[in-house]
Formats: sequence, C-alpha cells, structure tokens
Amino acid sequence: MRIDLCGVRGSTPAPGAEFVRYGGHTSCVAIAPDGAAPRLILDAGTGLRRVTGLLAGAPFTGTIILTHLHWDHVHGLPFFAAGDRDDARVALLLPEQLEGSAGAEEVLARGMSPPHFPITPAGLRGDWSFGSLAPGVFKAEGFTVEAREVPHKGGRTFGYRVSDGHSAMAYIPDHCPTALGPGPDGWGEYHPAALALAAGVDLLIHDSFLRPDEVAAEASFGHPAADYAVALAHRAGARRVLLTHHKPDRTDDALDALATRFRADPTVTVAAEAHSIDL
Ligand SMILES: [Zn+2]
Ligand SMILES: [Zn+2]
Repeated sequence: MRIDLCGVRGSTPAPGAEFVRYGGHTSCVAIAPDGAAPRLILDAGTGLRRVTGLLAGAPFTGTIILTHLHWDHVHGLPFFAAGDRDDARVALLLPEQLEGSAGAEEVLARGMSPPHFPITPAGLRGDWSFGSLAPGVFKAEGFTVEAREVPHKGGRTFGYRVSDGHSAMAYIPDHCPTALGPGPDGWGEYHPAALALAAGVDLLIHDSFLRPDEVAAEASFGHPAADYAVALAHRAGARRVLLTHHKPDRTDDALDALATRFRADPTVTVAAEAHSIDL
C-alpha cells in the first residue's frame, strides 16, 4: 500500500513561513492500493484538500474513516473538491456515539450546518453515505480495518489498524494514555488497545503533540509526549514510527529539534506533509 501524509498538524492549521517544511494542514492520511489512486482516507482535517491533487482530476471514489469528530479531523470535508462533485462516491464512517440515538450524519451536521457553516453534509455533491462504526474488524476498499477505542478527551475516539494482507499500518493521531495512569515510565499506560493496534505493524503513525517538559501542564488536553509514541512502537514490535499531530505552534526548527532528539533511533521519523511511504 502507499500512504500519503496529507496533514500532520493537530488542533488547528499552522500556515506561515516557520511551518513550511513540515506543513500546516491538519490530520489526514490517504491510503492507496499498489499503483492505484487513494481509496481509503483516515481523517478529514484540512489536509483532505491535498487528496484532490493526488487524484489528477478524477473524482474520489472510496471511504473516509474518522478517528473522532474534533475540528482538526473534519474541517476539510466541505473543501474536498474531488469528493464534492457530481461524479464522486464517498462512504464516510465515524465512531458510533454512545449518548443519545443520533446517527452519523446528524452528529456530523451539529458542527457542519448553519449558522456554523453554510451547508450541511447533505449539501455535498455526489453520492455520499454516512455510517457509524463499532470497535471491531471490517473490510473497506479491499483493506482489512480494525477499530479500537483509545482514551483522548471530549468525544469517543478510535485508533485504526489497516492491512492489505502483505503489510499493515496503525493510525492513532489523538491519544491520551496518561488518562489511564502514568504507566511504567511516566508517559502513560501501554494499554491493550494501543498495543493490539500497533502489534508488529510496518508503520505506526502516532500522536506526538507534547514535549516531555509539557506533559505535566498539558496532558489534560488529551495528548501524549512523543516519547510515548516511540516506546509504544518498541513495545508493540512496530518496525517504524512516524511522529505526527504536531502542536500548531511547533515550528520547523522545533520539529527538527524533535527529530534530533531521536536521531539515534533509525525507526523514528517526524512526519512531514506531502511525504509518501510505500509499505
Ligand atoms: Zn486532533
Ligand atoms: Zn482530538
């Protein structure tokens, strides 16, 4: 499979001259079968706009799976030109909400409807469907996808493991393992859901929002230190880890410093927008 990093920023986009090399778009990863166009998209942050460019003028035909409904994971939806056209076909899946009986489209419309935004999800052109996911294993666009709930803050959040039968990747962009306790090294618990998602994968793409010195004051915002992501990858036997969901004020120089801190470990890479990885 080919993985295109379309948005690696967390919380809110980060435009500007200090954010050029790692990129400012929020969470979005596009996955394509070997040699084909992207068909499976994880999260619909503003990076979703980049997927249109990967499709070379063609409409998007495929599935978008959201980890959760925070702004930085959905705000690209109405700006996805390849999905908002008459010949597009898009299945959008999001974690089943446990409170109330609202369906997926209704939950999405709470943040995407007047007066917050000019149109509702039903106003997107093309053939869109909206569905809810429970934790478990399912098929999407020829891939096997496993969904597991992970601790975050303010809304049910899933991590995903995607396999094509030859290689596997795990995607956990928003994760607060300290919510379950300090764990063996103080970075948070290496809990069964995280370990199972990352077990033996070729690539783990994981939340690395905080520096160690920020954890004490900021872990309550729902994110871990990059050190947790690296340790999780090692404990789970992941072959590589990509540090992502960068803090919006983390400049290129600050992300270079993060890469330098882990330079002795060849399995660690700091995620940068527009990079592709072939697994
Ligand atoms: Zn986020
Ligand atoms: Zn979030």
